[in-house]
Amino acid sequence: MSARMRAARVVRFNDDLELAEVPVPTPGYGEILVKVSACGVCHTDLHAVHGDWPDKPALPRIPGHEAVGMVVGLGKGVANVAVGDRVGVPWLHRACGRCDQCLSGWETLCATQVRSGYDVDGGFAEYVVAAADFVVKVPSALSDQQAAPLMCAGLTVYKGLRMSDAKPGDWVVISGVGGLGHLAVQYARAMGFQVIATDIDDAKLALAARLGAAMTLNVRTTEPAGFIHRSIGGAHAALVTAVSRSAFGQAVDMLRPGGTLVLNGLPPGEFGLNIYDVVMRALTLRGSIVGTRHDLSRALELAAQAHIEATVHPARLDDINEVLDKMVRSSLPGRTVLEF
Ligand SMILES: [Zn+2]
Ligand SMILES: [Zn+2]
Repeated sequence: MSARMRAARVVRFNDDLELAEVPVPTPGYGEILVKVSACGVCHTDLHAVHGDWPDKPALPRIPGHEAVGMVVGLGKGVANVAVGDRVGVPWLHRACGRCDQCLSGWETLCATQVRSGYDVDGGFAEYVVAAADFVVKVPSALSDQQAAPLMCAGLTVYKGLRMSDAKPGDWVVISGVGGLGHLAVQYARAMGFQVIATDIDDAKLALAARLGAAMTLNVRTTEPAGFIHRSIGGAHAALVTAVSRSAFGQAVDMLRPGGTLVLNGLPPGEFGLNIYDVVMRALTLRGSIVGTRHDLSRALELAAQAHIEATVHPARLDDINEVLDKMVRSSLPGRTVLEF
């Protein structure tokens, strides 16, 4: 195929993405070609740009793992999607389907998984190739722009909340009301939880209140753990989406005995745990990373049913370097979505 497309790609780590005309990729066996209409920009895309994880992507690489678009081409051996279907292309580009993790519903932990926009080219381009078995159809109630941030941000908090083992009526802390957190507040409400939102930014807390949080706490001005224990006896669960190390220890202190802390945010480094406290209060700590195809389908359906809406900042592919710069300097409220 000689057709060409616009794409933003990493050519050198820690440098601006190069905006280039590159050949439209050809789908191989079991693969599809998707014409991208929207692609969210995730904090994790920065790791591809900076090359700061131990396993760096091979360059050049087109980032992006929140793509939504139309299927326009099929490789051989594709039976589950057709040309014209609207699909999402998530972080989990594909997994082996044969290992213990894949067979036990943990494909997100497959040791030989391939990641979109990291191990293979992603959605910061007019077209992307996807593994047909690993794309998810997008419910018609969701626009492209609304569906894109759910591919990673929405999925991640949906799964994190499921991992919290919270039940309807339980009190759940959402720590950090940024790109992940503002979706987490809405998913938690849709799951029937009572939400306590914590942040250091009053504007973000006001957003959380509008989205249904029963309690909002600015942790700069209120000591959150004492307040939560005095008012409701501690939270049943806490989901930390903040990219701040101190938020993790703080969240442990907010839990009631038997409570569960789920870690979604990914700041570098460590946080301290008091062993006596964890043992005596029988706390559970869980890391949670994105979600499976099944989780993603459920997360999209729930978003459509419960009218979960991402706060979207539209941008053009040409603006990508500006968007990434802003992301490094501050946490943008809501989610930036590239539109094509
Ligand atoms: Zn992501
Ligand atoms: Zn596997």
